[in-house]
Formats: sequence, structure tokens, C-alpha cells
Amino acid sequence: MSTDNLPDIITIDGPAASGKSTIGLLLAQRLDYLCLDTGSMYRALALAAIRQGIRPENEEAIVDLAHACDLDIVPLAGETDGRQYTVLLEGEDVTWDIRLPEVDATVSQVSTYPEVRMEMVRRQRIVGQRGKVVMIGRDIGTVVMPEAPLKLYVTATPEERARRRLLDRRKQGHDDSFEVILADVMRRDHIDGSRTHSPMRPAVDAIIIDTTGRSVEEVLEEIMNLITGFRPEETIVE
Ligand code: C5P
Repeated sequence: MSTDNLPDIITIDGPAASGKSTIGLLLAQRLDYLCLDTGSMYRALALAAIRQGIRPENEEAIVDLAHACDLDIVPLAGETDGRQYTVLLEGEDVTWDIRLPEVDATVSQVSTYPEVRMEMVRRQRIVGQRGKVVMIGRDIGTVVMPEAPLKLYVTATPEERARRRLLDRRKQGHDDSFEVILADVMRRDHIDGSRTHSPMRPAVDAIIIDTTGRSVEEVLEEIMNLITGFRPEETIVE
């Protein structure tokens, strides 16, 4: 596909387990764009804190860690374990460890600190400004890349999101209960949506995509139609 008339930066924001990461990755593959899932960066930081015994409430130590930690997201290099990219923390592959429930339990708290966010946003912008990128997160359209020509906000009901997360966890061999996962999804929605600094919300010019009851293929098709019909001059300037 020619990428001449395509939006150079596509942002996908939305709550936990809304399908944004799956959709973003497939979209990036179709367009031959880089995919940056910014949640992985906050997760890697939360994991680094756990490993160093830093409590999530210790803002000062978490901020220091955000500046000091060496984290990277790199494309696949032949791995066949179902990963979509590799997350490196201090050079170590932590792609699966950042998905552990103990990281789910602390990541939203760690992500509330303004200085942590400023540092992560700085790192994310370096990637975003290179263009040809799909960036996934909570504040990408509102804060990280507000100038992006195409902004999407992908959402679904909490129950549907908890069902999807449960299926993912079962595939990975874990036996969690629906109620526990639903409670975690709603807890994170609350923290992410109510924090003072860059809360999760759609940008004013974002297109809202509700994935409840819809397949990944259906949603991807809708987005591809938006993209192929995309005209830069139609972009709303704030
Ligand atoms: O998207 P994912 O569930 O991997 O994100 C994990 C957590 O990282 C979110 O619950 C949120 O607290 C934080 N996050 C954020 N801003 C982003 C991406 C993720 O605060 N841009």
C-alpha cells in the first residue's frame, strides 16, 4: 500500500483491555509502521520498582528510577512465543514479566506521578516525531502527540474487557476469576481517568471506536476505511 496520503502518526488511546494494543499492532503491520505501545514503558518501570523493592507510594524513588532506568522496545528477532515485540529493561528481556498481576497491581499508581509522566512522554516523543508510527496509550492524542493527524479512542464495556483479559490469562495458563479481573480493570480505569496529570480521555478530535461485541477484523476494517478515506485537510485544528 502506498503510504503517501496516509496519516504519518496514528494515536490509539483507551482503557485497559479495550483491544487497542491488538488493533494497533495489526494496523502497524498493515501500514508497515512502527508500533509503540507506551503502556509497556510504564509497566517496565513498575517492574523495575518491584525488583528494587521500591514501594509504588515512594514518589521520589520512582521518579529517580524513571530517569535512570534503561528501557527499550525492539522489533521481533525470530521469537515464536506469541510476543509482538520485545521489551528490554537494563538489557534483560522482560516482555512477559511486565504482564504479571503484580505489575497490574502497581502500574497505575506509578503512572500518576507528573515527573514520571514527563520523562516517559519525552522518551515517547523521540519515537513519535520520526513518523510512520502507531502510538498506543492513554494520553497520546491529548498530551504526547496532540498534533497527530489521526486520533482514535478505542473502548468497550468493563465486562467485555474483563472477559477478554480472562481469556488471555487462560491462554497463558493462569486460572484467575472473572470478578477479580473485572475489579482490577475498573480500579485501573478509575486511577487512570481521575489522575490530575494527563488523565485518560479522548482528545476532542479523536474518533471513538466501541469494540464491544465486535471482532478484531471488523474493527480493523473500520479503521482501514477511515485511513484510506483520510484527507489531511479535513483534520480539525484546535
Ligand atoms: O495499556 P496497558 O494496560 O499496558 O497500560 C498499563 C498502565 O500504564 C495503565 O493502566 C496506565 O496506568 C499506564 N499508562 C499511562 N499512560 C500511557 C500508557 C499506559 O498512564 N500512555
